Amino acid sequence: MKTLKDLVRNNIWALKPYSCARDEFKGEASVYLDANENPFGAPYNRYPDPRQWALKEKIAKIKGVPASQIMLGNGSDEPIDLIIRIFCEPGVDNMVAIEPTYGMYGVSADINNVEYHRVNLDSNFDIDIDAIFKAVDDNTKVIWLCSPNNPTGNALSRDRIRRIIDGFEGIVVVDEAYIDFSSQPSWLEELPAMPNLIVLQTFSKAWGLASVRCGMAFASTDIIELFNKVKYPYNINLLTQNFVSERINLVDEKNRRVTAILDERPRVMREIGKLPIVEKVYPSDANFVLVKVRDANATYQRLVERGIIVRNRHSVTLCGNCLRITIGTKEENDRLIEELIINN
Ligand SMILES: *Cc1c(COP(=O)(O)O)cnc(C)c1O
Repeated sequence: MKTLKDLVRNNIWALKPYSCARDEFKGEASVYLDANENPFGAPYNRYPDPRQWALKEKIAKIKGVPASQIMLGNGSDEPIDLIIRIFCEPGVDNMVAIEPTYGMYGVSADINNVEYHRVNLDSNFDIDIDAIFKAVDDNTKVIWLCSPNNPTGNALSRDRIRRIIDGFEGIVVVDEAYIDFSSQPSWLEELPAMPNLIVLQTFSKAWGLASVRCGMAFASTDIIELFNKVKYPYNINLLTQNFVSERINLVDEKNRRVTAILDERPRVMREIGKLPIVEKVYPSDANFVLVKVRDANATYQRLVERGIIVRNRHSVTLCGNCLRITIGTKEENDRLIEELIINN
């Protein structure tokens, strides 16, 4: 790995971050007259903890990662954008990503005017190692991997991910938004040995809290300090901090729901696979399946007319005539299967 100083944009390395009242005084006191807050209306009259320590300590326990190695964002969208702003000089640096994958990496690259090279997955939707390394040049700062990958649904091979993390001089992001649904272990346990790795997870999928907007980035403390320098000071509001802190106590409930979804997944795949309009049901390590049909636009439209919305991925690279179907409740899945049988 290059040194962090070599990888980080000069202006960010030199940045003196905004120092808020809560940064300057951290202890316990009885009278707070330092932040121009309104004295009435506790607790929401006060600015929240900018580092969200109470919530991070709880996350640290269930993830086995120290709180100092966790950054919380407004969904995963925030760390995705921050990674680009920290490491990539607009118009100069570039990034490499698998294709197809989650669309936000490319959109954030465009917003930041940072070149984004897409490298097609192989015929098993796995990483083409040689092609990835061929796309890397001296100005490549970040490689984006997503495992299990969206929209293909499969986990990328561990060995290939490892070869990229070991062989690349810059930052490797592994987006694990769907890790709770996967048979593969998380890369979090490898974090201590991999200073160039950033792992993204989220409360949006397995935890069922998409509306709450809370994403997690795990990395070395040095990288986390860079996130802290650049993020908005109060990026996670107190309502969200408190709510997620409560919900995180209910791990068993989360696990039961994940199990319910995982129990439904093979049934949905089997039933859909029987239909003559279905050409292929791809393997899934996530809470959705990619399905290749004879005519994705037609099937999509017929389902819309029946009030059932799936994701049409027909226009996505390597996903011609594919629909991405989220696993719902048993009743929702039954509705989908019935409609597909009727319209077959
Ligand atoms: C859904 C999803 C996310 C979650 O994004 P949030 O902003 O945390 O809701 C992240 N990465 C991938 C690949 C996803 O599919």
